[in-house]
Amino acid sequence: MSVRVRFAPSPTGPLHMGGVRTALFNYLFARKHDGVMILRIEDTDQGRFVPGAEEYIMESLEWCGIYIDEGIREGGAYGPYRQSDRKHLYKQYADELLENGWAYYAFDSAEDLESMRKDFESRKETFSYDNQNRKILRNSLTLPENEVNRLLTSGENYVIRFKMPENEEIVMFDLIRGEVRVNTNTLDDKVLFKSDGMPTYHLANVVDDHLMEITHVIRGEEWLPSMPLHVMLYRAFGWTVTMPEFAHLPLILKPSGNGKLSKRDGDKLGFPVFPINWNNPETGEVYSGYREAGYFNDAFVNILALLGWNDGTDKEIYTMEELVDAFSLERVGTSGSRFDPDKAKWFNHQYMLMKSDEEIAELFINAEGTRLKAQGKAEGAEPAPGLTWGHKAQVMDMEWEKVVKIISLVKERAEFVKDLWSQAWFFFEAPVSYDETTIKKRWTPEIPSILELITSLLTPYLSPEPCVLSPEPCAPGSSPGQALSPQDYETLIKGHIAANNLNMGQVMNILRLCLVGSPMGPGVFDIMALLGPDEVVARIERAVGAIVP
Ligand code: GLU
Repeated sequence: MSVRVRFAPSPTGPLHMGGVRTALFNYLFARKHDGVMILRIEDTDQGRFVPGAEEYIMESLEWCGIYIDEGIREGGAYGPYRQSDRKHLYKQYADELLENGWAYYAFDSAEDLESMRKDFESRKETFSYDNQNRKILRNSLTLPENEVNRLLTSGENYVIRFKMPENEEIVMFDLIRGEVRVNTNTLDDKVLFKSDGMPTYHLANVVDDHLMEITHVIRGEEWLPSMPLHVMLYRAFGWTVTMPEFAHLPLILKPSGNGKLSKRDGDKLGFPVFPINWNNPETGEVYSGYREAGYFNDAFVNILALLGWNDGTDKEIYTMEELVDAFSLERVGTSGSRFDPDKAKWFNHQYMLMKSDEEIAELFINAEGTRLKAQGKAEGAEPAPGLTWGHKAQVMDMEWEKVVKIISLVKERAEFVKDLWSQAWFFFEAPVSYDETTIKKRWTPEIPSILELITSLLTPYLSPEPCVLSPEPCAPGSSPGQALSPQDYETLIKGHIAANNLNMGQVMNILRLCLVGSPMGPGVFDIMALLGPDEVVARIERAVGAIVP
């Protein structure tokens, strides 16, 4: 029998990252077994429906590369895939249970139940509508048949409840937890159907899993308490032979390890709990998502995969294909998995390093934090075929190879593309201020003359017409000076330092101060090679003029 799994979110708001992990594990399991991945929207609780949530769910899954085989958008032979569109289906199943004695009508008003609850509380007991208390409540088990019929025909509000057997041991099997046993006396008689014509989650969920021929129910641990009722429903319907197998995934815990990471934690703890930004249509508030926070989608998927699962080795970085290959429910743990936001950033950093410099350069150019001037967009210039000037990669066309090189030098210093500008800005703009601490520590009276000698070393390489890298493009025929490699600069400058018995540390720190303005950035000679001799000399001269120790 081929594997059919479903992700069955309720469109009551944005999808929590725990929900995405549930979807991911379903997806990995489906792919691994050449099965089918279904997206079923469980919107029977109309009161909690939130506009936009369905689209949000689909966009989130798409961003993660979790593809749906059957769903509200994709269609399929077992549709419709939205429970409100299947409304007409459920009543007959509730009726069937009424007929075969597995369910009953209950007419208790909300006020009756509330006063019952209070009564129990006053005796320090907890009320539940269970196989004992149902005997003293207003339902079709206690009322005479003609009274029940009268209430039903008079339009009285009712619900249909499941009739949990008395004192029976339910023995179940969970693929992650093994055998689970529950005595029916600890369970209540859940509502299956309401007089508004809508089924509750329990009835709709089980009926749909059956009709959609779901083979494995993989869902969060918060649904484990529902498993006995669901197993009993399969029994009540006579569907035990085709009952799906169950697997309840462990909780994702707050970084402190104290309690479940909840939707309400979003932003409060300093990291997103949603895959993508969510704009609350009611309040206008924006809740941040991993996508907008700068996470790569493959890094995010990798982070989620390791929340509760590992392949038994130390391997931490997985592509989606590798995950499909390695995944098994047997290796999903039972205890809650603490979410570590620093580790999440580490993952993103690893993905940044793994991606090609070209790919990151393209993202860098288009990133919000990047303030590249419209270099290359000379007056009257035409964009390359197929591109427009609005495309920043094209705007940077002239310097593209340089940008790629710059990225190769700085990407190990940032966790997110949006932070690259703060590591690379000095390649594009000259510094306008200089670090006081370095000045105090290193700027001695002989520094200006030392720098003058160094700039004179570069004189032979300057272009005839001075041209700086920023802010305007170079005039035709000119260049930012003759291209020298980092090694060329090293030989020149280190040779000079050695020959003149200068303090290597001091001179190198001062050169960095002139070029970058602060003690940061990759190797000084790498920076020089990218700036070119014209810009190097210009920056040194500007610094000498500006720095008054
Ligand atoms: N609609 C439920 C939810 O929102 C689905 C639970 C299940 O997978 O059975 O999570």
